[in-house]
Amino acid sequence: MAGTLYLVPTPIGNLGDISPRMADTMAQADFIAAEDTRVSLKLLNHLGLKKPMISYYRHNTQAGGQAVLERLLAGESCALVTDAGTPAISDPGQELVALCAQHGVDVVAIPGPCALVTALAVSGQPTDRFTFEGFLPMNKKNRRTHLDSLKGEERTMVFYEAPHKLTATLEDLCQTFGAERPLSVCRELSKLHEEVRRTTLGEALTWYQANQPKGEFVLVVRGAEPVQEQEATLEDGLVRVEQLRAGGASLKDAVKQAARELSLSKNELYDLALDR
Ligand code: SAM
Repeated sequence: MAGTLYLVPTPIGNLGDISPRMADTMAQADFIAAEDTRVSLKLLNHLGLKKPMISYYRHNTQAGGQAVLERLLAGESCALVTDAGTPAISDPGQELVALCAQHGVDVVAIPGPCALVTALAVSGQPTDRFTFEGFLPMNKKNRRTHLDSLKGEERTMVFYEAPHKLTATLEDLCQTFGAERPLSVCRELSKLHEEVRRTTLGEALTWYQANQPKGEFVLVVRGAEPVQEQEATLEDGLVRVEQLRAGGASLKDAVKQAARELSLSKNELYDLALDR
């Protein structure tokens, strides 16, 4: 019988966030697949565990994934860990989960630290509907196309960003959403210098142009204000009736169609049209 792939989240900055279940899962697994074996070795040492490890990182997802799959199909169980946070969330893992699903191998996700959820929860921005955007594309054209596609987005948007690219990204976000758009900059979550700045895109840009960004960042950007659809008036209805009549419709048919299109009362529109 095939083994199970366990997705094991690891702390995003505070070792106190290791849960008993995470530790047990790593202790029980036959082997660990790690994004960076040196980083994960430190965690294993902290937990007093010795485990066989293999590499599974962004640029070997095919060969690495195949190697993990073969061992799973042979009955071993595997704990997948990344450098920090939840595997498969802007981290290696999604291809391996898909591969396991294709081959009928069980996958169990252990709940735990994730910068996305931690930032969203503390941001103070609306959390009922949101979109996770991860890292923006680096290629200029793809980045612009991607940002343009978000122009009317009404849900809260969550972005990951590296410190050396933060000001360039804030500039692009300002250009796309305007300097007044509310933003929460969530920095160094769960670490000593944890900070949440609830500000605007313009103010954040000015701040980080003057103060070099340091640490890890999640940007939580408020969505666009919903566009209020104006209700049509009877006068709008009359204009539409005239257009339809000019196209050859009878008064009765024109009123019927205009009332339906603009959600107006057919009788009121008809009475008004007769008076004109
Ligand atoms: N899989 C991880 C997770 O579950 O959050 C994310 C990995 S992604 C490669 C790394 C990015 O996550 C960082 O560039 C930063 O945007 C965000 N991040 C990770 N740890 C963070 C922290 N402690 N505070 C703020 N952002 C963090």
